[in-house]
Parts: sequence; structure tokens; C-alpha cells
Amino acid sequence: MDHLAIALENQYGAHNYAPLPVVLVKGEGVYVWDDQGKRYLDMMSAYSAVSHGHANPRILQAMIEQAKTLGVTSRAYHNRLLGKLFEKLCKITGQDRMLPMNTGAEAVETALKAARKWGYEKKGIPANQAEIICCANNFHGRTIAIVGMSSEPQYRQGFGPFPPGFIQVPFGDAQALEQAITANSCAFLVEPIQGEGGIILPPDGYLKACENLCRQHNVLLLCDEVQTGLGRTGKWFAHQHEQVKPDGLIVGKALGGGLYPVSAFLAKEEVMRCFHPGDHGSTFGGNPIACAIALEALSILEESDLIANSAKLGEYFKAELQKISSSLIKEVRGRGLFIGIEIDIQQRSARSICEALLQEGLLSKETHDCLIRLAPPLIISKEQIDDALEIIRRVFAG
Ligand SMILES: *Cc1c(COP(=O)(O)O)cnc(C)c1O
Repeated sequence: MDHLAIALENQYGAHNYAPLPVVLVKGEGVYVWDDQGKRYLDMMSAYSAVSHGHANPRILQAMIEQAKTLGVTSRAYHNRLLGKLFEKLCKITGQDRMLPMNTGAEAVETALKAARKWGYEKKGIPANQAEIICCANNFHGRTIAIVGMSSEPQYRQGFGPFPPGFIQVPFGDAQALEQAITANSCAFLVEPIQGEGGIILPPDGYLKACENLCRQHNVLLLCDEVQTGLGRTGKWFAHQHEQVKPDGLIVGKALGGGLYPVSAFLAKEEVMRCFHPGDHGSTFGGNPIACAIALEALSILEESDLIANSAKLGEYFKAELQKISSSLIKEVRGRGLFIGIEIDIQQRSARSICEALLQEGLLSKETHDCLIRLAPPLIISKEQIDDALEIIRRVFAG
């Protein structure tokens, strides 16, 4: 192993991550290689950012061509691709307008700002009184406002004071949402399936019930699909499993095709109309390289069967995992190629299982001590899923 690379990270880097002990040097398709030439099946996909596979040739080509032609310009000027990206993603999502950012957290912040402004300008909430309702166990990123919404002590500890105006309700409980809504509520922010929280699926009908409550009380329904969007759960967006239409939608991760940070907030007209020139922005958001990459990433999803593949192989993968008989496994759950194995941590930590999987050539990552997340690139084949299953069965047998 390249111990120097690791030593340098340890000596000069902030210790805000605890990586598994492997140094990756190359990626192609569903595979990555370490510095010793050992190949791994990537079942983590950079937290779903690599849905199109590593070094996807079409996206790579689009990126290189655009980088040679025109790179970063800022939004002080127009470029030829931005409008095309707006149109494409609006048509795909059914939203009216798009605001481009780079990371998921920035797009979430954009949604929070839009919701508050809409609350004051359209709903008539008194100045500085707007409330945004969020869910316990959420993950929306790492900015101060966002960790202020978190129920995870480690995300918050030492980072206060936090902005006011966020109300937390239990996830999966529409009645709790109803009770939390007041005349000052401007939005309800929710992940249709909680990702970092541990691949938590709410009860069937939850999102639909939330949508109805939001409509009834003139509250915006904001779906954070940074991780669940773009085919991950077997549909374009996870909210489509319940025929819900959010008032605002947050997309990121896979929108960057595994090569670049690209995120977006999309919303209906009356929400996005609240932004005027100078209200909000980003130096890199919507730059030509980002647009070229995102356009290609979306075209691939439109033209290929990756989303259907996610639905079909996800069902197969989950069913096969559920057949594994091991006292270590408490539950296997998920939707599409977004699957978690919950481990009985009284017996063994999820981390130690991830380390064993790594030894066997499979990359995964624990979340919340007890869950192993399996979210391979959507280009994965049934044969490659079978390879993964063989490794997983071996690790749980050993
Ligand atoms: C990863 C994630 C984010 C934050 O995205 P970053 O690009 O890491 O800022 C926000 N929301 C959800 C649901 C995520 O999974």
C-alpha cells in the first residue's frame, strides 16, 4: 500500500474523515483499482455520485471537449449550454425553472432561501418569522444552517449557534407534520428515502400524505433528491414512486456524471420568481463545463436503460441479499440500486464488515455504525451483481 500517500493525508489534512485503508489510483466502469493493481467492485459509487460509472466515455468526452473550448465564465455572461441544461432538467423533472449550484449542500441552501423568500413575498409571513419543517435523522449537507437542522449530535456539536426557524418532526409520520404546521410554515423539506440516515424508507403513502398536507396549508413541499434522484431508486426521482409533485426539487451528486460537482434547485414558477438579480448566486454554478457534463449525464439516462436496470437489478440484488442467512444481518432494505444491510452491532461492527469486503475486492461504506450501504453504479450488470453477492455471502459466512 502507498503508505506515504496516507501519511501525507494524515499529517497535513484535517481529520474530518476516517477512510478505509486503501489508496485508489484508477477507475473504469463499476471498478476501481488500488496502487497495488488490485481491482475492486465499487458498491459505494462515491455516495451515488458515480451512477454512470467511473470515467464514463461519453461524459469524459463531453467534459474534455468543453474544457478545451470554454471553461469557467461566471454568470456575469451568458453561455450556450446553460439554457439547454435548464430546459432539459425542467422537462425531465416537470419543474418550471432551475438554479444551478455545485454541491448538494449549496443547492439545499438555495432551496431554504427560496422557501423563506416565497414565504414572505407570496404567503405573507411576517418578516423573519418563516419556519421550515424538516425531519429527524435527515442529511442535507454540512453548512451551518443545514447542520442546524440535523438531529445528529456529531454533526452539530461545537458548531452552534445555529440559525432559528427550523422545526423538526419525526420522519415517516405525516400526523407529526400536520401538528407542526403553523401560519408561519413556508416549507417542508424531506428526503423521500433517507440516505445517510441509513437507507430509511418511510411507510407507503407517507410522501403523498405530506404532499396533501402541504397543499392544504399552503406550505411548499421540497424534496431533497441529491442522493435518491436520477435513477438511483429505479425511477428518475424517488418521489415518483408515489406520484408526488414537489414544489421544489434538489438534485446533485450523479448530475455531475462522476466527474464534477454539479447541483441544482428546481422549482415552480412562483417560487423561483422570488429570486431577482443579485439575490443569490455562485461563481462556478452553471459554468460551461458543468453544463456540458450534466447535459451528457442526463442524455445517457434518457437514452439508455440505466434507470430500468436500477429497478430490475435492485429488486434482484435485494432479494438475493435477503436470502443470506446470518445472525449478523438484522434487515436488508432499499429501493432500486439503493440498498442497505443493517448489522447487529452487538455482534460485529458494520465498519469491520466493510473492511472484510474491501479485502475481498468490494468497496462499500458503513453509515451510522450499523448499516452497510450498497449503491453501485447503475451501469452494473447482473453478472457483476452475482460477483458481489458471492463476496458478500463469503464475508457473512466467515
Ligand atoms: C450528499 C447529500 C447532500 C449534500 O451534498 P454535498 O454535495 O456533499 O454537499 C444533500 N442532501 C442529500 C440527501 C445528500 O445525500
